[in-house]
Amino acid sequence: MSSFFNYPPQSLQDELKCIAKCIMTPGKGILAADESPGSMSKRMESIGVENTEENRRRYRELLFTCDDSISNYISAVILQHETVYQKTSDGTPFIEVLQKKKIVPGIKVDMGVVNLFGSDGETTTQGLDNLHERCAQYKKDGCQFAKWRCVLKIGPNIPSYLSILENANVLARYATICQANRIVPIVEPEVLPDGSHDIEQGQKVTETVLSFVYKALHDHHVYLEGTLLKPNMVTAGAASPKCTPEQVANATVTAFSRTVPPAVGGIVFLSGGQSEEEATVNLNAICSYQGRKPWPLTFSYGRALQASCLKAWGGKQENVVTAQEELMKRAKANGLAALGQYKSGAITTAGGNVSLFVKDHAY
Ligand code: 13P
Repeated sequence: MSSFFNYPPQSLQDELKCIAKCIMTPGKGILAADESPGSMSKRMESIGVENTEENRRRYRELLFTCDDSISNYISAVILQHETVYQKTSDGTPFIEVLQKKKIVPGIKVDMGVVNLFGSDGETTTQGLDNLHERCAQYKKDGCQFAKWRCVLKIGPNIPSYLSILENANVLARYATICQANRIVPIVEPEVLPDGSHDIEQGQKVTETVLSFVYKALHDHHVYLEGTLLKPNMVTAGAASPKCTPEQVANATVTAFSRTVPPAVGGIVFLSGGQSEEEATVNLNAICSYQGRKPWPLTFSYGRALQASCLKAWGGKQENVVTAQEELMKRAKANGLAALGQYKSGAITTAGGNVSLFVKDHAY
């Protein structure tokens, strides 16, 4: 086997590492606001608001114009193509609003999941065509990192070898294209919580998936310090009895310690349908877990940061301030959890304990 390879130039390594480090500032995490217009229809429907481009813009304006102190807890925001080019009602580009708050803008670049032919309902993620050109443009437009989500499912005979291999490979191809364009890739192999499996099975599948992902990243010469991993927490299936935060922390940290190289720039969890409070309490248990954890750990939540905020807004201008207060509370709670300093129930939001599970979740 040939071992020829040149490492990326030092300047590129330094730039990628610096972006990753800034996102992983202790006590801060990522707001995932990159729901596609299609996924936003479910969110908007839940509050009785029409899913128009203008209503999506109004909602994102609410999120991004939250009081400046939100940057005590939020280091970065994941945007979506439409949102990168939208502006506040006074004409300021969203990217500029975030930059002024010292929040790093990033962009979801995958084009969604498609079925794997002949599989048992398994998928891969598309969007490699033109990715190089798109990344070059997004970098010019101010995006410093990207996200690509792959989905793996647990069932009697799945995930299959094919889906594990294919999703690891497509994540690696995406990561190299990002790095070539001076963009930090967030690598997201989400093992869905759907099903009635126990936590041991969740752990074994997560370990297997992650080991393939890091083999592929290595094969593709990805510079690990300039990447972030966005994984699921290891839990029992959504149809099984809930595990305690300590069980989740033990299974999650053990799985990562077996498979995620210490060089990786950081691990940023998705919330995966947990309630707001559950996602905070589990993150706190993981971050305060006494065991070997060589990577910085924090949150990159979509639903678990936005659910109460979205509900409080309800599409009405007069509710903007209350909705922003809900977002601020969740951001603060998760910022504390990332430091392992959150006390269960210490910060309450209107929908804090409501399950946010969506079957076969798309983004
Ligand atoms: P949830 O936190 O809602 O699971 O989503 C985060 C995300 O960005 C998934 O790609």
